[in-house]
Amino acid sequence: MSSVHELDFLKEKIQELKDQGVYRKLPVLGTASQAEVILNGNKVINLSSNNYLGFANHPRLKKGAIEAIEKYGAGSGAVRTIIGNMDIHEELESLLAEFKREEAAFLYQSGFNCNAGTIQAVTEAGDIIISDELNHASIIDGTRLSKAARGIYKHSDMDGLEAILKESRDKYKNILIITDGVFSMDGDIAKLPEIVQLAEKYEAMTYVDDAHGSGVLGESGRGTVDHFGLHGRVDFSIGTLSKAIGVVGGYVAGSQTMYEWLSHRARPILFSTSLPPAAVGAIIEAIKMLMESTEYTDRLWENAGYFKEKLGKLGFNTGHSETPITPVIIGEESKTMEFSKKLLDNGVYVSGIVFPTVPKGSGRVRCMVTAAHTKDQLDEAVRVFELVGKEMGIL
Ligand SMILES: *Cc1c(COP(=O)(O)O)cnc(C)c1O
Repeated sequence: MSSVHELDFLKEKIQELKDQGVYRKLPVLGTASQAEVILNGNKVINLSSNNYLGFANHPRLKKGAIEAIEKYGAGSGAVRTIIGNMDIHEELESLLAEFKREEAAFLYQSGFNCNAGTIQAVTEAGDIIISDELNHASIIDGTRLSKAARGIYKHSDMDGLEAILKESRDKYKNILIITDGVFSMDGDIAKLPEIVQLAEKYEAMTYVDDAHGSGVLGESGRGTVDHFGLHGRVDFSIGTLSKAIGVVGGYVAGSQTMYEWLSHRARPILFSTSLPPAAVGAIIEAIKMLMESTEYTDRLWENAGYFKEKLGKLGFNTGHSETPITPVIIGEESKTMEFSKKLLDNGVYVSGIVFPTVPKGSGRVRCMVTAAHTKDQLDEAVRVFELVGKEMGIL
């Protein structure tokens, strides 16, 4: 007799994954996240992390983490509303507000939590949330937690956005337009000036998730809002502390009013323990480093430009990225996965991304160049791309 505890219904679904050829084991990293790593026991050049600035294993961040542990311990002890709100959490929030050139910044345990908490806290039944179709999964989930209605426009289609705004203005109380700042699969930037203009025309609020723009775009990585000079015109400016900043966490920068409301109603901070001191100590150093110098962001863009140019010259299709995210579009799904596997066999790790994450027939390997890569490492990666590209008849 089969028992319910055998989870047979999941075994069947897992078998389906195997039949479809998409079952996989998680790759295992045996070193810090850095330019060259041990992956599944082999030394490879890492072109697959979001550690844009090389901060994840930076000595200054590690020192900040260790000092915070010495003073504050390993854990914060409670949610922020009880007694888990340490002075370093507030110090980090002030620093983030200054960095982002906004009145205030509200700290969460992750970028995902930030979207899960903020969207539902600032919308309610009778409102509408209007979203770009390519927005991140955490925005989709955050939107599902809200009682507001939903509208979706085609990727970066401003006519489509305006049509929904026009139709919604009299039907709903508040309108919230949400977009990624940088779209992670193609590396294109949201049309933020146009979005802000439309928002102002139809009296809508704006919400930019700058997970891939934080630490990358704008002056010393201040983000997409800074890149376009739109300070004071975007209501909710979300950043992660887990990608370019190299640690973990998320925040929303905006007005003092926003801060006050979220400190009463953001569920991830009411019901989940605050960031550990080590993370906060490390992040504070990272933000200080960005405020002191553009050295890291400059090197990131230089490395990304160098790599992109070399791949383009070889004849690879690197799409229409405007940021260091460098997709190399292969097309067919199985060919994309084979390309990625052959790169790995030759010592370069770049993850393959295929349907349903990207449209059918637009499979790609997504290269994430960082400030920490040396020219030698990038040259070696280009050599391997050329080798495998010729072997597979892509070039
Ligand atoms: C990665 C990502 C997140 C999640 O951030 P974490 O800090 O890793 O939880 C949210 N939004 C976007 C657009 C992202 O790319």
